[in-house]
Amino acid sequence: MIGFRKNTGERQYQDSYYHKGKRQLLAKQLEQKGIHSQKVLEAIKMIPRHYFLDSAFMELAYDNRAFPIEAAQTISHPYTVAFQTQLLEILPGDKILEIGTGSGYQACVLSYMGAKVYSIERQQVLFDKTSKLLPKIGFRQIRTLFGDGYEGAPRFAPFDKIIVTAGATEVPKKLLRQLAIGGKMVIPMGCNEEQEMIVYTRMSQSEFSTSNFGMFSFVPFLKGVNKSN
Ligand code: SAH
Repeated sequence: MIGFRKNTGERQYQDSYYHKGKRQLLAKQLEQKGIHSQKVLEAIKMIPRHYFLDSAFMELAYDNRAFPIEAAQTISHPYTVAFQTQLLEILPGDKILEIGTGSGYQACVLSYMGAKVYSIERQQVLFDKTSKLLPKIGFRQIRTLFGDGYEGAPRFAPFDKIIVTAGATEVPKKLLRQLAIGGKMVIPMGCNEEQEMIVYTRMSQSEFSTSNFGMFSFVPFLKGVNKSN
């Protein structure tokens, strides 16, 4: 059974037909914008995005908008989440590394699609908050890690897929090395406010191919960690 149906007794973590209806509309909107993977659209319809937002934004949770979360970070636009997820071509059982846990929404979308998810966050306040939230809403199978995503998670490598959810100015070489042969990494890259979505595919031990998929806007992929006092 999908755990997020569990009732935690807290008002914010209750799902309803109203929310489900809003998610149906959101999925329709994403489809019109070019998201064609039915598996991705299904995940968008199932994961209650309002669980991941500050209560001030609950009413707007199913708008195609980014929202602020703790530590001056953001939960990405649903379109961006859907687009990156679609590019990854997730297969059930894929081992995935996410860089930038943030609210945990993207990690839950991947987990719902049957991936085994490892997710790294460099902001301790976000790591603490999201690590508590995920088991509470039924996603205890997601492994959250506190650290610098530039290092990846060598203990758990190789990964079938890697998703970077912050804008990078350089290619993180250590992440490429942690990709399985045949694996894919999706990463927004660029030096300005906007980044180009790039997919690296590992063709062999030493060869990678790249494809580009348009411009997006992410918070920056920063080095090191930010510990809370
Ligand atoms: N995937 C998130 C999006 C969060 S925004 C979600 O679904 O909500 C991007 C996140 O990347 C931020 O939380 C930011 O703190 C984090 N981040 C930036 N640089 C990082 C790094 N080097 N290692 C790990 N996380 C990083």
